[in-house]
Amino acid sequence: MSRDDLLDRLAILADAAKYDASCASSGTARRDSRDGKGLGSTEGMGICHAYAPDGRCISLLKVLLTNHCVFDCHYCINRKSSNVRRARFTPAEVVDLTLRFYRRNYIEGLFLSSGIVKSSNHTMEQIVEVARTLRTVHDFRGYIHLKTIPEADPDLIAEAGRWADRVSINVELPTEAGLARLAPDKKAPQIEGAMKGVSQAIVEAKDSLRRFRHAPAFAPAGQSTQMIVGADGASDVQIVSRASSLYDRFGLRRVYYSAFSPIPDASAVLPLQRPPLLREHRLYQSDWLIRFYGFTPEEVGSAADPGGMLPLDIDPKLAWALRFRERFPVDLNRAPREDMLRVPGLGTKAVDALIVLRRQRQIRLEDVRRLAGGWRKLRPFVVTLDWRPVTLTDRDDLRARLAPPRQMELFG
Ligand code: SF4
Repeated sequence: MSRDDLLDRLAILADAAKYDASCASSGTARRDSRDGKGLGSTEGMGICHAYAPDGRCISLLKVLLTNHCVFDCHYCINRKSSNVRRARFTPAEVVDLTLRFYRRNYIEGLFLSSGIVKSSNHTMEQIVEVARTLRTVHDFRGYIHLKTIPEADPDLIAEAGRWADRVSINVELPTEAGLARLAPDKKAPQIEGAMKGVSQAIVEAKDSLRRFRHAPAFAPAGQSTQMIVGADGASDVQIVSRASSLYDRFGLRRVYYSAFSPIPDASAVLPLQRPPLLREHRLYQSDWLIRFYGFTPEEVGSAADPGGMLPLDIDPKLAWALRFRERFPVDLNRAPREDMLRVPGLGTKAVDALIVLRRQRQIRLEDVRRLAGGWRKLRPFVVTLDWRPVTLTDRDDLRARLAPPRQMELFG
């Protein structure tokens, strides 16, 4: 195999993997410094960043085993009917690439996914073989994230969890109807069945580890999933509610939202335009509100418009606060933590710091400004020793005063 052939396939298979939203670098603009001007490059094939369970940002080789696929999901560039250049690695080649990148200090781990070749089981066996070889033959201690195939035999998915730090199974679309229309080969019950199996195996492995120090681990960094936003007609309320149900039922670490982007040679059933990128951001903010701020999906949904869409010009916490003004202002010297977490502009760290501070003395406006890193958005919603908003909280023009005037340009 020539070096050029390997690089060519790496270019195809790393590029094909960028549509997976599991890392922050997917879809960035291409830049390089080959003309001798400037410094750095985003051309390096297949290197992306992800967050390890301990919060470190780590670089991963993000690649597909193959972009051949026997399925025909309309939104996917690798679908059977797509006219893209195809390539394929053997498991041994992915192992070799991972080790070579690792030894050169380019990466700290591997993110491996694949189109489906021959059958789901055949493909899953190859994915597992990469991870098994890295761990058992090369004693690879780096991070491994395997994308698993829900249609594959549960024993193969279980083996993936044995070697990987994290496994993920994509639910793909927020609604079952959307999945049936845009990914006709995939079945929602099969996807959820596989997620349930992984979730149970994670719980059992944790339990065994508590009792036996040398019990085998199973996906210690948990499982995650990805939902494509804007390819079907699902509203934000439907998306938030589906994500919340997945967190509850399968103990997911993360639901990633991926704004649908029109692909070359797109299927006619897809929208022609991508949704505003800001929509993806607002969904992540809503996700955060539910996971860390005590909001229910219904509360987040109550900030949406009658069509179930969250506003784009203000964040969902501010939208909720403006709709439920009777809950404000919150007295930061007396209110319980859960009420303080509802204040727009106050994050969990700032709330906890204010609670520590108020045990020593009364909180003043300057303390909030310092700990929250800003004051403008907070002012109508809080009371401190030296500040009370009086009529500001109820003003008709409060939304206009707080909405950033130029933000619409971001998604225009
Ligand atoms: S199964 Fe995966 S790779 Fe194949 S068409 Fe569907 S989304 Fe694309």
